[in-house]
Amino acid sequence: MWLILAILALGALLAVHLWWRSRFRQEQASAARRLAELREQTERNAIQSNLQRETVFNNMAEGLVLLDEDGHIQLANPAFSSLFGLSQEVRGRSLLEAARLPELAELLKNAHESSHEPSRNNGGDVGHAALELRVPGFTERWLEINASAVSNRSAGNWTVVVFHDVTRLKKAERTRQEFVANVSHELRTPLSLIKGCAETLIDGAKNDPNVAPKFLRTIDRNADRLRLLVEDLLIISELESGRIRLNLQPVPLRPSAEKVISDYASRAKTRQIRLVNEVGVLLAHADPNRVEQVLGNLVDNAIKYGRIGGTVVIGTRESRIDVPRAPNEQRASPTSEPSPQIEVYVRDDGPGLPPQALDRVFERFYRVDKARSREQGGTGLGLAIVKHIVQSHGGKVSVKSDLGHGATFSFTLPLYS
Ligand code: ADP
Repeated sequence: MWLILAILALGALLAVHLWWRSRFRQEQASAARRLAELREQTERNAIQSNLQRETVFNNMAEGLVLLDEDGHIQLANPAFSSLFGLSQEVRGRSLLEAARLPELAELLKNAHESSHEPSRNNGGDVGHAALELRVPGFTERWLEINASAVSNRSAGNWTVVVFHDVTRLKKAERTRQEFVANVSHELRTPLSLIKGCAETLIDGAKNDPNVAPKFLRTIDRNADRLRLLVEDLLIISELESGRIRLNLQPVPLRPSAEKVISDYASRAKTRQIRLVNEVGVLLAHADPNRVEQVLGNLVDNAIKYGRIGGTVVIGTRESRIDVPRAPNEQRASPTSEPSPQIEVYVRDDGPGLPPQALDRVFERFYRVDKARSREQGGTGLGLAIVKHIVQSHGGKVSVKSDLGHGATFSFTLPLYS
C-alpha cells in the first residue's frame, strides 16, 4: 500500500517536473524570439536613422564639414565640394587647404575661444562664430559661414562648419539699394527744378510778364514728370510683387494695335511720324489692357527715339517656340509640343541702339542717352514694365538693332487656339 502511494507521488512529481520544464522551454523560446525581434527592430531603426541623417547631410543646400581636434576634415557633404568646385576627396585635409579662405583660421579660433567662455555659451561646451565674405576667384559669390566648436570630455573636440550661399540675398539687397538711389535721383531733379522756379517767382518774377510764363511752364512740365514717374513706380511695384491678376481672354491683336495707333496719333504727328498697322488677324490668349499697355510703351518709345518724319510699324509673326510658362501654368513635359506663340513687333527707322545697350535696355532706369530720355519725359521704366507684363503671360521680350538703322522691339504671347 505505502509502496503504491510512494510510486503515485513520485509519478505526480515527475509529471509536474516535466510540465514545468516544457513550460520553461516554451517561455525561453518565446523570450528569445521577442529578443531577436527587438534586436531586429533596433537594427532597422538604427539603419533608418542613419539613412535619414545621410539623406539630410547629402542633400542639404548648405555646405557642411565636420573637423576633428586638429582641424582636419572628417566629413564633408557634396554641397561643400560643389560650393568650392572640389572634385577630389577632402577627408583628412585641413579646412583652409580645401576651401582656400584665409579668413577661416580666425573664424575657427573665435569659435574655439567662445566654447571656453561660460558667459557666451550659458556654461555649456559649445562655442559659435560667424562671418560673411566674398569668395575670391568667382565672378560673384557671397558666403555666410557659421562655425560651432564642441568641446566635450566624452565625445572629444569637434567643429561643425556650415557654409550658406547668400549671393542671391546680397544681389537682391544691392538691387534694392540701387533702386532706392535711382528713384531718389529721379525724384530730386524735377523737385529741385519746381522748387527753384517757385522761389524765383516768389522773389518777384511773378510780376514780370516776360519770364513768369516760362517758370510756370517748367513747373507744370516737371510736375507731369513726377506724376508719370510715380505712376510707373506703382505699376512696377504691383508687377514685381506678383499681385497682378491677368484677365486672360482671346484678344484680337489687330484692333488692339489700331487703338494704340489712334491713342498715339497726335504725338506721332508732332514728329511727323507715320504709324502703320501690319498686324495679322490673330488671337492672343492674354489680358487686353496689358497688351495695349505693352504696345503703348513700345510705340511711345518708337516715336520718342525714332526719326522725325520716319515710320513706325506694328506687326506680327506666328511661330512655334518653346518659351518659359507663366508661373501659374503647368510645366510642359519634355515630350510635349512647344506652345504656339505669336510674336508681335514694333519697328522704327530711327537711330537704333548700340550693341552694348541691347542686353540692358529692359533693366529699370537704364537709358542709352539720359538727357534725351528726360527731355522726352521718359521715366526709364517703360521697357521694364513691358518685360514684366510679357513674362507674366509666359512670353519673352527681345530687341534687335543695327546702329543707325532703326530698332525692332518684339514680344511673344500665347496664341489663342
Ligand atoms: P524711357 O522712359 O527712358 O524711354 P524705357 O525703359 O522705355 O525708358 O527705355 C529705356 C531706354 O531704351 C531709353 O531711354 C532709350 O535710350 C532706349 N530706347 C527705347 N526704345 C528705343 C527705340 N525705339 N530706339 C532707340 N532707343 C530706344
